[in-house]
Amino acid sequence: MQTVYLDNNATSAIAPEVREAMLPYFSEFYGNPSSMYTFGGIVGKKVAEAREQVASLFHADASEILFTSCGSESDNTAIWSAIMTQPEKRHIVTSCVEHPAILNVVEYWEHQGYRVTRVPVDDLGRMDLDAYAAALTADTALVSVMFANNETGNLFPIARMAEMAKEKGILFHTDAVQAAGKIDIDLTRLPIDMLSVSGHKLHAPKGIGVLYIRKGIIFRPFLRGGHQERGRRAGTENVPYIVGMGVAADSAVRNMGEEQTRVAALRDRLESGLLASIPQSRVNGDPEHRLPNTTNISFKNVEGEAILLMLDRLGICASSGSACTSGSLEPSHVLRAMQVPFNYAHGSVRLSLSRYSTAAEIDYVLKELPPVIATLRKLSPFKD
Ligand code: PLP
Repeated sequence: MQTVYLDNNATSAIAPEVREAMLPYFSEFYGNPSSMYTFGGIVGKKVAEAREQVASLFHADASEILFTSCGSESDNTAIWSAIMTQPEKRHIVTSCVEHPAILNVVEYWEHQGYRVTRVPVDDLGRMDLDAYAAALTADTALVSVMFANNETGNLFPIARMAEMAKEKGILFHTDAVQAAGKIDIDLTRLPIDMLSVSGHKLHAPKGIGVLYIRKGIIFRPFLRGGHQERGRRAGTENVPYIVGMGVAADSAVRNMGEEQTRVAALRDRLESGLLASIPQSRVNGDPEHRLPNTTNISFKNVEGEAILLMLDRLGICASSGSACTSGSLEPSHVLRAMQVPFNYAHGSVRLSLSRYSTAAEIDYVLKELPPVIATLRKLSPFKD
């Protein structure tokens, strides 16, 4: 049975060129990039090249790129640094639809006595900018709002939000884990101070991340020890993964425009085909401001988890918008924040494409998903 992988917001395939570029750094080039001799220097040069490649993805300077172990570490580091460098400020602003890599970290700081404002969203998942403006105070140490939402693909007005924070002299961080490599992010135009990236969402391996730190921002390391990463993160560099991250960023720079037009067309065909063939279905999210690869669709009166199990038998990989909490299926915090009606929120499925998604795969899902929903509706205790 073929695998139709439509869960690229969870993780993505390692690109062949990324894998090829990494391999020599697992074997012949194992030197330490900090060593003085040539054998280490070769490796050090490759790390520098990868840093340049990642910087290019964001129109940034290589000195602004810090390699970390994952998106979660980048998020933790950004929040940590903002707090440590401004001990007098005791307030954090975020949104209620962030990934747990932010939500659980700000909750930790809340338990340490910080005040946290979580900006709400409307029924399309759009940020409430009035609530956001009202939240920014002289006591705010940091704003952390995601660039794109992992569940709905919604893109937030980050340029405007960053400007509003800057007007009040507040540090602005964005979790761009889902946006990086999928849309152009030009940090010469956006007043963002820190930005988090994760390799495995853009065809690099799992276990490599990036934190962009704008030049001039006062920074405190999260991991202390050796002087790697110019004293900003201790630990001998994960050279093969850094090399892979560089090549993945380079591929994204080269292919983004063309690739994302193709991916968006496939996503739109999938979405409109499902809406047309499955009654009582709806899209969750902001149709005008979305990542090109993501759709989140709800089917009334069915369980998302049941849909996933049946799709799995057909070789189709997707995610649902509900999570098992203490034995019962709860709609995700994102769908709850958007007040998606209960009987729709439970039957939500996220389908996320990549450059490797094909028209044949979309046709297969368009053929197989409608009968799955029809079967589950017959079994469902919920009827209209
Ligand atoms: N932020 C967002 C928006 C994500 O979607 C994810 C992963 O799903 C993360 C952060 C965490 O990234 P990582 O798995 O690299 O820690």
